[in-house]
Amino acid sequence: MTYKVPFVDLSKQYQALQFEIMPVIEDVLFQRADLIMQKDLVQFEKNMASFLGVKYVVGLNSGTDAMRFSLLAAGIGKGDEVITVAHTFAATIAVIVHCGATPVLVDVSDDYNMDMPELEKAITPRTKAIIPVHLNGRICDMTRLFNIAKKYNLIVIEDAAQALGATFEGKMAGSFGLTGCFSLYPMKSLGGIGDGGMLSTDNEEIAKKARRLGDHGYNRPRRDILFFGYNSRLDNFNAAILNVKLNHFSKWIERRREIADMYRKGLADIPNLILPHFDDPSYFDTYQNYVIRTQNRDELVSHLEKRGVETLISWPQPVYKYPSLKLEHYHLPKTEQLCKEVVSLPINTEITDEQVEYVIKCVKEFCLQHVRF
Ligand SMILES: *Cc1c(COP(=O)(O)O)cnc(C)c1O
Repeated sequence: MTYKVPFVDLSKQYQALQFEIMPVIEDVLFQRADLIMQKDLVQFEKNMASFLGVKYVVGLNSGTDAMRFSLLAAGIGKGDEVITVAHTFAATIAVIVHCGATPVLVDVSDDYNMDMPELEKAITPRTKAIIPVHLNGRICDMTRLFNIAKKYNLIVIEDAAQALGATFEGKMAGSFGLTGCFSLYPMKSLGGIGDGGMLSTDNEEIAKKARRLGDHGYNRPRRDILFFGYNSRLDNFNAAILNVKLNHFSKWIERRREIADMYRKGLADIPNLILPHFDDPSYFDTYQNYVIRTQNRDELVSHLEKRGVETLISWPQPVYKYPSLKLEHYHLPKTEQLCKEVVSLPINTEITDEQVEYVIKCVKEFCLQHVRF
């Protein structure tokens, strides 16, 4: 079906950039055929390091591998416990399992990010690391998180897949921990032309190790093999396109924040509707997703569907409810409640003010019919 307001509209984004992207295709593909580990990738990594305010950025093929290599490079493995949230994409938990460590899941609080008292309760003598997830473009409370991490001497690896450009006390997501892990998947706020990811760090050894992990264990340029590695590189052509898009990124973040503000004003004071605004000037949120909460979520989604508004429910149930994953012993009340109540409204750089107003009108129309007294 064609929506009046689609959740994303990537062809519209590429059309708007057509005149900047065509010369890149001509140059990188037709003239140079520079496809693997070439100057566009080096340039992208430099651009990103300066954007994030970190020393090193390593381009990889996914955010998932950025996290997996972070854990491996930090020496985490069998017998270690790594704490993260249950209210996240399965990949955050998968990487812990793939490294041979044990995932320990904790609940989230009202801003959808890790609950700090729950984090502290989950620490055992085997805990080695924490993976905070900066969900929906909002950073976790890094002051409290680092107080806990320091007290127990734990490594922090940030899942910043949804938070490129977000800041806490003026510092960028991905610049707090040993590493920051980002996804450049097409639907992320800075999306490539296919899968992609990157790892940020100030630690030279970790940067080197992560790059070698993703490049067959090679010690370039000599090509000695230092260990058995994997194949996980950010394609040079993808990096070249991402360099073009990065020039627009700050403007895109501003636009997302503008749309979030329109939703905030348009949907204020509606009973039974919780909006994702958590007033605190320490945070600069980038709204990778605009997630609202209501007890009539499923009815709201079908109402919007009928009106031509496409929405997204990221996780209809907590990851630990899938029996094959063998995490069924968890019961995290907030996570379970959120899975039933949250839905993301369209927010992207292609959507027009008129479309946002239309979404607001449709949500209001529904809510006013379903007021519970
Ligand atoms: C997208 C995402 C990932 C995974 O990134 P990929 O690049 O798809 O591997 C991990 N964690 C979160 C929170 C994400 O949203």
